[in-house]
Amino acid sequence: MSEETLDKIVSLAKRRGFVYPGSEIYGGLANTWDYGPLGVELINNIKQAWRRKFITERTDVVELDSAILLNPKVWEASGHVSNFSDPLTDCKKCKARARADKLIEEWNEEKNTEIFPENWAGEKTPTSDLYEFININKIVCPKCGKLDWTEPKAFNLMFKTEQGVIEGEGTQIYLRPETCQGIFINFKNIQTTSRKKVPFGICQIGKSFRNEITPGNFIFRTREFEQMEMEFFCKPGTEMDWFNYWKDFTYKWFISLGVKEENLRMRDHEADELAFYSNATTDVEYKYPFGWGELCGIASRTDYDLKQHIEFSGKDLSYFDEAAKEKYVPFVIEPSLGVQRTALIVLNDAYTEEEIKEGDTRIVLKLHHTLAPFKMAVLPLSKKLGDDARKVFDLLVQKLGWNIDLDMIGSIGKRYRRQDEIGTPYCITFDFDSLEDSSVTVRDRDTMEQERIKIDDLLHYFIKKFIF
Ligand SMILES: [Zn+2]
Repeated sequence: MSEETLDKIVSLAKRRGFVYPGSEIYGGLANTWDYGPLGVELINNIKQAWRRKFITERTDVVELDSAILLNPKVWEASGHVSNFSDPLTDCKKCKARARADKLIEEWNEEKNTEIFPENWAGEKTPTSDLYEFININKIVCPKCGKLDWTEPKAFNLMFKTEQGVIEGEGTQIYLRPETCQGIFINFKNIQTTSRKKVPFGICQIGKSFRNEITPGNFIFRTREFEQMEMEFFCKPGTEMDWFNYWKDFTYKWFISLGVKEENLRMRDHEADELAFYSNATTDVEYKYPFGWGELCGIASRTDYDLKQHIEFSGKDLSYFDEAAKEKYVPFVIEPSLGVQRTALIVLNDAYTEEEIKEGDTRIVLKLHHTLAPFKMAVLPLSKKLGDDARKVFDLLVQKLGWNIDLDMIGSIGKRYRRQDEIGTPYCITFDFDSLEDSSVTVRDRDTMEQERIKIDDLLHYFIKKFIF
């Protein structure tokens, strides 16, 4: 894999209607992307696959869809107002902007030392310390080579906006930077109305916004993205068992979607790397075309969030354990992942160039059945057969309820190639013989083998074939 692979995926994504550059006709808006017809299907299928494993198939997990706009006190309680920031510095010579902590990190890597080991943690590491360190060690601008930085300023990553119609008189609020706080503030509502007993989990899928300084690598890091998060509430003292359980569960979920094991690895955070509220965190990392990077995080968040909300709201968010007759604030395990990042890795793993005969290659997206935008495509061999093919399409789409393509345009060979490129697992060709024998030809995307199947047997055939 290489950067070249990423270019090929970006190009295919645009050509076939998965992902377009955002606001393209106006020259774009940096690092925004719009999801076209097939992209929407892929994204929805990823979310559906996650919901199915994490919610539907379980009896101890429920779902929430909270507002994106929350009372600004939520973000004071969570620590985001004071701590969710990057220390930014500008090169006075060439105007390059950099993260002071990253400059130091890279310097450490280069020198193979860890002289300034602490991670940037908002108020906990004064920006003046970073500034002093940079100047003493002469960490120059990577762009122009000069040492002339401004003193770093903590730049909050939350998007600010105003609620209310009168300019300047509204309340300043934020677009949520994570979905999990909506879960914490609804813990009591959900626990009492769903009658769930601890241990249980609450999931949420939704948009989050972060004013990242260095977005990029296609849809890997964007300022607007969708998260799939679960907060699993458990009794204090049991959190390490649950932490290990959800680590394993999340990893297996990726494997079940056909993600290649050689591209995945687990990385436990070192003690000095842990967020201050966490007593254990593991990242699932993926080997992207641009190198290993974070895919998903599983964090043991202790009782930090609930306790903060108890303090800031003055409400009792503790749990009464009937069986043990004791009251406690639950501990929390959080598997958290990005929908778009998952889309990027499944596209990357699925992208295949195959030589089918000498000098003839095809591009095929070997997507897992459950993720493929179209589960199958119905192709009349000739336009004259369009109406009859349509009947097969109607039968399948109505009985199976899956997204199916009816593709009439182009030679049959070209249509096969198009369906291969967008990852359609099966093509169903209706030809002139079909009028006589009431059968169609089913072509398998991966093996390219063809099979003659009675139209009456199609439903049964596909229900058996499909892996969800
Ligand atoms: Zn510079």
